[in-house]
Amino acid sequence: MTTYNFCAGPAMLPTEVMLQAQEELINWHGRGCSIMEMSHRGKEFMAVAAKAEQDLRDLMQVPSNYKVLFMHGGGRGQFSAVPLNLMQPGKKADYIVSGAWSKAAAEEAVKFGGINTQQIQLKTDGVRSLTAEKDWQLDPQASFVHFCPNETVDGLEFTGVPDTQVPLVADLSSTILSRPLDVSRYGVIYAGAQKNIGPSGLTLVIVREDLLPKADANIPAILDYRLAAENDSMFNTPPTYAWYLAGLVFEWLKRQGGVAAMGQINQRKADTLYNYLDQSDFYRNDVAAANRSWMNVPFFLADDRLNDLFIAESEAAGLLALKGHRMVGGMRASLYNAMPLEGVQTLVTFMQEFERVHG
Ligand code: PMP
Repeated sequence: MTTYNFCAGPAMLPTEVMLQAQEELINWHGRGCSIMEMSHRGKEFMAVAAKAEQDLRDLMQVPSNYKVLFMHGGGRGQFSAVPLNLMQPGKKADYIVSGAWSKAAAEEAVKFGGINTQQIQLKTDGVRSLTAEKDWQLDPQASFVHFCPNETVDGLEFTGVPDTQVPLVADLSSTILSRPLDVSRYGVIYAGAQKNIGPSGLTLVIVREDLLPKADANIPAILDYRLAAENDSMFNTPPTYAWYLAGLVFEWLKRQGGVAAMGQINQRKADTLYNYLDQSDFYRNDVAAANRSWMNVPFFLADDRLNDLFIAESEAAGLLALKGHRMVGGMRASLYNAMPLEGVQTLVTFMQEFERVHG
């Protein structure tokens, strides 16, 4: 039975990548050992690391005045690293709160300096949406503005790029590489790897060089962007196997036609599911059309007494991990890059049949 894994993260990886990793696992390129058993400073791993960085730079068209860092600590590590690296004395930072993850980022940042938070998620007549950018109050003197374009738990997405006078910091953990994006509009982009990049344990940071903090800053070394940049992300031992796998994913993305092609497929995947949800009285999604996430689609059964049965039957049908986040309930289908269109079509066919039997 073909299975499709809708987990929000760690998420499914492309089958081609998994097969290649399996083939290379214990004897990488005939060297008699695994890439995960080699020194991060050896020429083999250094070449793997450099190729992964270059492929990512090509995919995202990262301008040359940006550093790409391969760090530890996940998205939450960056919730601390961002204020530690970018907060300027006597200045505050603006935190746009659009859902659970940007709220968590703001809560962490408070430990390291003054912040202004702004709640932009609205609920009107049962429909959730985001306040338009023109109504945001931004401090022109802020050290930076932090926002989360795709809220993984809430299923809300802000598709524009806020026009800020100060450096813009984006938590792209659940939407990076899902479509084209203009890196030059951002000061810092970060993403935990475990959704669209590779396995957990690796965190990608793309930072404009002029924002690298002064060397004397009082930052834990492991979170210091400047140290990471000066050491080519090898100040300490990086998560080498996750970096290697991310490299295989970047090669796979290039073979798919890059982020522009991914964007088209991802839009079709999201449309397929939302269109079905919208014509059904049995299921519902409560996010305004303009703010619906392409990557994470929460949905609810009209009769939530059927939730457990839906989960049991979907799992039995090979549709894995559809249970909603514990804070939200209901269901959630995550449709990251590795999820093929057929996976979404199979899900919709299953949902139709479940509705026919239980509706
Ligand atoms: N930001 C976003 C948008 C996320 O979806 C997540 C994890 N789901 C995090 C941050 C936290 O990431 P981590 O668990 O890697 O710390």
